[in-house]
Amino acid sequence: MSKKYLLTPGPTPLPPEVLLACAQPMIHHRTDEFRKIFGEFNEGLKYLFQTKNGVVTFAASGTGAMEASVVNLLSPEDKAIAICGGKFGERWVELCKAYNVNVIPIEVEWGKRAEAGEVQRILAEHKDAKAVFTTLCETSTGVVTDIEAIGKIVKETDAVLVVDAISGLGAEDLQTDNWNVDCVVAGSQKGMMLPPGLSFCSLSQKALKAMETSKLPKYYLDMKKAKKSLDKTDTAYTPAVSLIVAARESLRLIKEEGLENVFKRHKMLADATRNAVCALGLGLFSNTFCNVVTAASVPEGIDGAQLVKLMRKKYGVSIAGGQGHLKGKIIRIAHLGYMEPFDIITGISALELALSELGYKVELGKGIQAAENVFSNQIK
Ligand SMILES: *Cc1c(COP(=O)(O)O)cnc(C)c1O
Repeated sequence: MSKKYLLTPGPTPLPPEVLLACAQPMIHHRTDEFRKIFGEFNEGLKYLFQTKNGVVTFAASGTGAMEASVVNLLSPEDKAIAICGGKFGERWVELCKAYNVNVIPIEVEWGKRAEAGEVQRILAEHKDAKAVFTTLCETSTGVVTDIEAIGKIVKETDAVLVVDAISGLGAEDLQTDNWNVDCVVAGSQKGMMLPPGLSFCSLSQKALKAMETSKLPKYYLDMKKAKKSLDKTDTAYTPAVSLIVAARESLRLIKEEGLENVFKRHKMLADATRNAVCALGLGLFSNTFCNVVTAASVPEGIDGAQLVKLMRKKYGVSIAGGQGHLKGKIIRIAHLGYMEPFDIITGISALELALSELGYKVELGKGIQAAENVFSNQIK
């Protein structure tokens, strides 16, 4: 027997309704049958993204939509600002460099969040900046960015605000229209409870305008083309039919639970996980916790990579280790997507057993008790 538990920040577990939708016979995409599904899917996306504007979809992992936002909103040698406090902030810088965009990184210590005041100061220094790139949840560090505050600042400039919400969407509140976010980038395999393979960009009026003058090269990722098709409830190329059929189902589940309840559930799971790791004597890594993933420092003398491996191999529980210079130093436990209290209990139990086996002095059950204390107060 080897039952598996997936507590990684992408891919995430799939609800049975989604699994069944994935197993449906293939249909052709230029049919009324698909158009109806595609229409419902697009309405579901608007609800999740909290926007009245269109959301374009690409058959790509999340990074594909990050790349789409760069090549559709900018021209060679344009200036752009990128907030960079972890692995995924760094990706914005790398993408800009790959396309010869003049990128000004705002370097933030890993584990800390960027302050809106700093963004304001850098924007005032670089009035010709065409875009500000940031990350809702920096999955490598467990930090959440104050997008509302940054949105207020960027709104007053000519720059567009692009937010990588690949892990955060559907776990953290992100009010795309109300907070003046011009392009929200997302991916299917995290909070959206889907397999990997779809990525998304929402587009504000300001973003549509920026697209008109963008001169960076693009073909498949051309958002003007994608948007033109979207306006006719159609797609420019063959869409990932099965994933869209499945996404209609997951978006229906999200609507049924209600976004507000989805956020509350993620917060409860995050609170319980943080309580549990603290009770076990592990340190929390970030200073502004997101509700997507908990990053915790591993105790002195324990190799984080070995801990992750032991949990997966012996107990069937997958969590993530540290990325970049944090390899072996932190663990990351996701509470993202199709998850409930007993997923967390399972994860913490495996963590206690594995820590104990690696020689760390831990009272078995202490983490579970701390998590249950959160649940007993909050489960209605
Ligand atoms: C997972 C993730 C990505 C990368 O997405 P891919 O689907 O692997 O391309 C980018 N940004 C953040 C914040 C993520 O969590």
